[in-house]
Amino acid sequence: MTTLNIQGKILTPASGEAYTTALTRLSELSQLPAGYIVQPSNYADVAAAVKFAQAQSPPLEIAIKGGGAHGATWASSSGGLVVDLGATLRNVTVASDKQSVVVQGGALWGDVYEVTAKESVDVVGGPLWFIGVGGFTTGGGYSPLGGERGLAIDNLLSATVVLADGRIVKTSKDEEPDLFWAIRGRRLRRTSGGGGQFGIVVEFVFKAYPPQGPYGVGVLAYPGTEIEKVIKAVKDWKTTQTPAETLGINFSRAPPHFQPSVALLPTILHDTNGERSAKLLAPFHDLKPVFEKTGTVPDLNMVSHGADGSLKNAPRRVVIRGAMFSDFYPELVLAIWQKWVAFTETSEDVRASSVFFDLMSSKKLVEVGAADTALALRVPHNWVAVQGKSTTDAGVAAADEWAKSLSGFIRQKNAELSGKDLGWFINMCQGEEKPEDIFGDNLPRLRKLKAKYDPQNVWSKGVALAPLHE
Ligand SMILES: Cc1cc2nc3c(=O)[nH]c(=O)nc-3n(C[C@H](O)[C@H](O)[C@H](O)COP(=O)(O)OP(=O)(O)OC[C@H]3O[C@@H](n4cnc5c(N)ncnc54)[C@H](O)[C@@H]3O)c2cc1C
Repeated sequence: MTTLNIQGKILTPASGEAYTTALTRLSELSQLPAGYIVQPSNYADVAAAVKFAQAQSPPLEIAIKGGGAHGATWASSSGGLVVDLGATLRNVTVASDKQSVVVQGGALWGDVYEVTAKESVDVVGGPLWFIGVGGFTTGGGYSPLGGERGLAIDNLLSATVVLADGRIVKTSKDEEPDLFWAIRGRRLRRTSGGGGQFGIVVEFVFKAYPPQGPYGVGVLAYPGTEIEKVIKAVKDWKTTQTPAETLGINFSRAPPHFQPSVALLPTILHDTNGERSAKLLAPFHDLKPVFEKTGTVPDLNMVSHGADGSLKNAPRRVVIRGAMFSDFYPELVLAIWQKWVAFTETSEDVRASSVFFDLMSSKKLVEVGAADTALALRVPHNWVAVQGKSTTDAGVAAADEWAKSLSGFIRQKNAELSGKDLGWFINMCQGEEKPEDIFGDNLPRLRKLKAKYDPQNVWSKGVALAPLHE
């Protein structure tokens, strides 16, 4: 057997606690017992690990772990080799001219925001600190800044990628442009809908902006009896929404009573003295929330910690499936509510299951053409995350089945209401989805590029792309 000589660490089941800790993912259901976990010290270590895995007989499956937040098992491997970027490659550097930020492939958005807040710049990144830059970005990346700045991939200037043959290449609009096109919206690893399958991004360079804060944030919660009034108020707001405003809507049952409740979670840019949020939230105040905590925070680092309290006691058995919708259809949202209420009444095990809608403005993301990046969905839309959660192993199958069935319902109903089938949300797929439902008309080009950059199908997890040899 060839040996693996690297400067970083190699963990195996014999490594004890360090190995067990390194297997941890956001959801327990995403964890698998790896044969090897490589924690690289540098990019050459990543390349060496990729070559080592392929030199074994039979070759080892390779999984790439960024932040470990994805709701499937793509960042894990049963018996294969995990490249644990998140353990070590997390440096973040703001360029001296403050026009760009260099982020290593294993960083969390929290790592980025800690640095950008100090340096007084902003980047188009994730909403929560614990989400990895790697998975988020290669799957497109819907950000709190997205209404004004587009997707994370629209703000990616260049990337450094370790390819299946171990080469370390820089890619941008001018260098290896095909690869740059492919990694923007298709996960580099067989992945989540993003599709990837092109390599391991060890370094991202993002466009930097002046600070977009202060940010109006918070929560306004209503009892389920008010759902129709809340839906109507959101519908009215949606017709006047500006790109600086994003609203999240969350269906959950909070202790101590566990009754169904609907919460509105605003993120408002440029909220100087709270003026924008006062205007936006006025109709929602009028509905008399039973719980309200709103205010302004100075930077994205604080925005990204906004959900810490509510997530602290969430079950760790979570399956997430996403769906897209073309407009805020009250009848669709009400139907989702009813299905969620019915499911979460079935047992205490699955009562924490929740539904989250993200109502970011599509204004900026539709300015990019469907064929300009691998992510083809460039018509107005929003996404919803259906989160099946269980407190016991016994409840997992039901939570999973519910998430699958409800996301399928949303996709189908949206197609009926809008006349457009939007396919699946690449960042919240589970792996069994058809690639054409994710990449649409971009699939043939992606398959040809797969043949160019990964002819042996080394990157095979997630939504697999078959290489198309010409
Ligand atoms: C609570 C929650 C909220 C979310 N909110 C949003 C949201 O607002 N907008 C949004 O767009 N998405 C959102 N997501 C989805 C999230 O972006 C994806 O789950 C993403 O894959 C997480 O990235 P990660 O690096 O933490 O994932 P991991 O689990 O580490 O990896 C996920 C996939 O990405 C691949 N990958 C990771 N890093 C790299 C890399 N450096 N190079 C190549 N491939 C890599 C992995 O191989 C794997 O296939 C949310 C997820 C959760 C759990």
